[in-house]
Amino acid sequence: MQRAMTHARMTRGGAPRRSLRVLVTGGAGFVGSHLCDRLIERGAHVVCLDNLSTGRRQNIEHLIGNPRFSLLLHDVVEPIPVPLEVDEIYNLACPASPPAYSAAPIHTTMTSVLGARNLLELATEQNAKILQASTSEIYGDPEVSPQPETYWGHVDPIGPRACYDEGKRCAESLFFDHARILGTRIKIARIFNTYGPRMSTDDGRVTSNLIVQALSGTDMTVYGDGSQTRSFCYVDETVEALIRLMATPDAVAGPVNIGNPDERTINDFAAIVRRMTGSRSQIIYRPLPVDDPRRRCPDIGQAVRLLDWLPNVGLEEGLARTIAYFRDELVRLPMAREAVA
Ligand code: NAD
Ligand code: UDP
Repeated sequence: MQRAMTHARMTRGGAPRRSLRVLVTGGAGFVGSHLCDRLIERGAHVVCLDNLSTGRRQNIEHLIGNPRFSLLLHDVVEPIPVPLEVDEIYNLACPASPPAYSAAPIHTTMTSVLGARNLLELATEQNAKILQASTSEIYGDPEVSPQPETYWGHVDPIGPRACYDEGKRCAESLFFDHARILGTRIKIARIFNTYGPRMSTDDGRVTSNLIVQALSGTDMTVYGDGSQTRSFCYVDETVEALIRLMATPDAVAGPVNIGNPDERTINDFAAIVRRMTGSRSQIIYRPLPVDDPRRRCPDIGQAVRLLDWLPNVGLEEGLARTIAYFRDELVRLPMAREAVA
């Protein structure tokens, strides 16, 4: 890793204008890899830092060799191993799928807490802006719906989801303390369920499970009675909102909800996937995981006002693109069919 990302480009008047130097942690993951793409397209130099635990080289393969992209294999739990000069940091490093984070709960908490601390130190030292990919899980199993940013949440602090929920809550707290005490330039995005191409076939979240099952003709698993709700946002729209939040003035720290308020029951979602894939799979019911939130729907008033952002990719349009991606994945990886059967 070279010390400085100092590549310059010329402005129209001939004076050199330095490209934005951006660190994306978790950049080989589902959302992070789309973010790397958009930032590169907009002229930035991007360092993608990832330990490839739930992310995949495949997601960023097309960027390898691009002179404005580099990959740093590293775990954010450990201090950043090389000197980096950065203008902006997007901190996305953290497993996001319930089966993935509950498989390694202690490391998940450490990833959120120590990862935030290590990256906040880098941001503070460099006077860089830093954006935390926080989550709707901050609200736990909410007693109000839709959830505004002012809602403090209803989180089980000792249950199997706590490693993720409380880790992310502590990270938000660390971010705000760094801003208050050290003047760190922070942004907090509370992301709601995001879906789209580049999710792994074995990711374990509802979108990938149901689509892979439907395309493979195996039983489609709905947990609980399927009356719980989620609000699904297409990945390109989530990424656009993150970039817009990063571009806001320093006074805007958030938290800002980012999600599509089109709330659906999981039963409806499964039925749409089944219809759109033309599948003859049966929908079967499995026990609801402990602490699975009953409702989730973002109040996005802040995002609309502060970011001039409103998601407009409808669920069926986004699912059509996502189903097409998974069809290709299943041709590429025939074994994936068995993984979620
Ligand atoms: P993902 O699992 O595909 O991506 C996470 C990435 O972080 C992976 O590339 C993984 O290898 C990397 N990573 C995990 N632990 C790490 C560590 N200790 N050090 C370095 N890298 C590490 O998940 P995603 O859906 O792309 O989520 C990205 C971020 O957005 C996460 O922080 C997640 O909490 C947040 N988020 C996502 C959603 C969503 O619906 N996708 C919703 C809310 C919040
Ligand atoms: N779910 C389901 N079938 C699956 C996977 C998940 O019914 O194969 C449910 C899960 O219990 C939850 C919702 O779908 O109510 C969304 O789950 P996901 O793991 O995608 O994300 P969460 O919002 O719970 O973090």
